[in-house]
Amino acid sequence: MNAFSLLEQLSAEHTLDASQWEALIAANSPELAARAAEMACAVRHEIYGNRVFIRGLIEFTSYCRNDCYYCGLRRSNRNAQRYRLTEEQILSCCEVGWELGFRTFVLQGGEDPWFTDEKICALVREIKRRYPECAVTLSIGEKEESSYRAYREAGADRYLLRHETADDCHYRRLHPEELSLSHRLACLQTLKQLGFQTGAGFMVGSPGQTPATLAKDMLFLQKLQPDMVGIGPFLPHHDTPFAKEAPGSGALTCYLLSLVRLMLPRVLLPATTALGTLLTDGRERGMLSGANVVMPNLSPSDVREKYLLYDNKLHSGDEAAESVRHLRESMAAIGYEVVVDRGDRL
Ligand code: SAM
Repeated sequence: MNAFSLLEQLSAEHTLDASQWEALIAANSPELAARAAEMACAVRHEIYGNRVFIRGLIEFTSYCRNDCYYCGLRRSNRNAQRYRLTEEQILSCCEVGWELGFRTFVLQGGEDPWFTDEKICALVREIKRRYPECAVTLSIGEKEESSYRAYREAGADRYLLRHETADDCHYRRLHPEELSLSHRLACLQTLKQLGFQTGAGFMVGSPGQTPATLAKDMLFLQKLQPDMVGIGPFLPHHDTPFAKEAPGSGALTCYLLSLVRLMLPRVLLPATTALGTLLTDGRERGMLSGANVVMPNLSPSDVREKYLLYDNKLHSGDEAAESVRHLRESMAAIGYEVVVDRGDRL
């Protein structure tokens, strides 16, 4: 079956088998990607119209106990500048965000034991008390079930935990021995069972990735049926073991965004910061490939350059207000409207 027919099949049935996925991914070409993007945008338009949901990203700690080979925050990176925001700083990010029209706050950080469950729960409770209409999303890595349960009881609505890769050998290539794919996947299951709106996802072009491993990612997502999927290009960081590796491809990232939209029509799909870093018009290209979420940074300007997952990470130096204004304009220029809405999955 040729790749265009596979696209049609995916669009009609929202599913393919492993060999079909692999063939469709390997066949990526500008013509095929253009067709996939057109189909993906039509599907998204039917469900979400031209609405773009924004999430206020608060990168609240750059300390991490993990040592992932790709990430600039890894504990072995002695050159990383480490910081923690205080509760007061985090709440003032929310205040700025609320005024700018954000109705979702994403608390993201390294796995930092200083932020105990008690501290995280107190923060979530306080944000929900002040902004009951807002959704709170956590993205703080792998935890015990009891921790996830406590966060949920404190009022957290959503959790982002990219699976990174669904292939065991590939997972080993990206992570040290103490981390395992099986534990990561078990965490995702637990999060779903606890009633979190759950996000999985992966980097595009991480070392060792192939169309066959990507096919496994698609099959995994198909099975998990997550509410959100985060996909961005791998970008090297100079103080990691992957410093000399090539960055992932923006074109392949966009193509995969379209395929995810066709597989999971209702999914909340961000045009990621990494895509915006790799391509100057990355966020627009992401939207035009089927994305419907953007996650501008609400962290205080002076810490943004310290949360360096990869080199040249996009941070305009603009205050949040300025960057949201730019975002509204750039989205309007391609026919999309940034809305004031929690942006739950429909
Ligand atoms: N510590 C939490 C976790 O592991 O889920 C959340 C923070 S972690 C820095 C967020 C995501 O950043 C990871 O899931 C990974 O996919 C992405 N990331 C890390 N290093 C990256 C790199 N060099 N290029 C692109 N994305 C990267």
